[in-house]
Amino acid sequence: PSPQQPLTDLSAAEVAQVHARQTAAYDALRAQGLGLDLTRGKPSTEQLDLSDGLLSLPSTTRDRSGADVRNYGGLQGIAELREIFADLLGIDADRIVAGGSSSLTMMRDVLVDLMLKGAVDGERPWAAEEKVTFVCPVPGYDRHFTLLSWLGIDTVTVPMLEDGPDVDAVARLVADDPSIKGMWLVPTYANPTGSVVTQEVAERLVSMPTAAPDFKILWDNAYALHHLTSAETKSADVLSLAAVAGNPHRPVVFASTSKITYAGAGVAFLAGSPETVAWYLGHLGKGSIGPDKLNQLRHAEFFGSADGVRAHMAEHRRIIAPKFAEVDRVLTERLGGTGVASWTRPEGGYFVSLDVLPGTASRVIELAARAGVALTPAGSAFPDSHDPDDQNIRLAPTFPPLADVTPAMEAVTTCVLLAATEKLTG
Ligand code: PLP
Repeated sequence: PSPQQPLTDLSAAEVAQVHARQTAAYDALRAQGLGLDLTRGKPSTEQLDLSDGLLSLPSTTRDRSGADVRNYGGLQGIAELREIFADLLGIDADRIVAGGSSSLTMMRDVLVDLMLKGAVDGERPWAAEEKVTFVCPVPGYDRHFTLLSWLGIDTVTVPMLEDGPDVDAVARLVADDPSIKGMWLVPTYANPTGSVVTQEVAERLVSMPTAAPDFKILWDNAYALHHLTSAETKSADVLSLAAVAGNPHRPVVFASTSKITYAGAGVAFLAGSPETVAWYLGHLGKGSIGPDKLNQLRHAEFFGSADGVRAHMAEHRRIIAPKFAEVDRVLTERLGGTGVASWTRPEGGYFVSLDVLPGTASRVIELAARAGVALTPAGSAFPDSHDPDDQNIRLAPTFPPLADVTPAMEAVTTCVLLAATEKLTG
């Protein structure tokens, strides 16, 4: 039997043959003593090098308004950088805050502010409620879920589909349960599925009736500009849609240049209704007199315009698109038709989401680790790291060199087939 036949259609004897072959392949793999890593959704050194022009900027210490960027002040961030990202994100510059280097920190701040102080449209702090629950599309971003459990916020999951979260499921949940105060959403090239929220889904999410009057959509657009194809899909304009729907304060938008310039020294952005921006800045101002405007100014100079950012993103694409193509090539060649794996073909973002035979993901990850290939821990794309079907594996091909992606993915496919045949021979 060829591994390209659905393994589940084979006779017991044929499965045993495939199992024996994969066992031999796995032993050969271990003998190679690989040391490869597909866990890290971070830019490669070559990508970071694209932004080294920043290291000799800014060329001046004054921003456009004449303010000395070395000094205190300017809590909302410098206007010239907000304007560039306003153009890219389709949001008015005065509704954007440019902050420090991490949008995740802004998300944490927003959640802490909501818990301790309450929403701009809320009656009391969320912490005063008996229970707070968040809707989490899965698979999703592990750090979103960690933040919730850290704050004692309960989770309820819905499936992430190709066009965004299962919006019928979301609407049903939020309609009746006032403890459901919000949801996470990575709207464009989601981590890890690559899903893109369509205009229709976005419209329903901002207009659906919610039992909680201060329901929030934390719209984490971390990969808004990170296209892998010429399609360059535009994100839905969630703030305008929400305003039209009469729920202007529902979305809080996040983005950053972590995977545009430097992951450790970029600029993060928050956006929302004017009231949301004032609410956020009011709380932020208790702990900060102003952001790193010098870094903001050098970013504004480095890009010059929104088109400067677009051209820069094309350079990233040139580096990473071949890695994603290689992941898909190896998966297709080795697992296509086997019936024990399906995977995403993202048009952007940083991840491929691989689903293996239910009940075998943790075994695949264990086998790969023993063969010297590090994969993201099983279940990490689910709240409490619990994948109820034990089938999802997040692959992150951007960091390793292309030459490492091939052997790493070949090893993964061997482990997927070995774990599947172990299970089927049970
Ligand atoms: N949001 C998502 C969906 C991510 O995947 C990541 C990083 O992997 C982040 C946020 C982190 O963003 P930042 O570096 O701006 O904190």
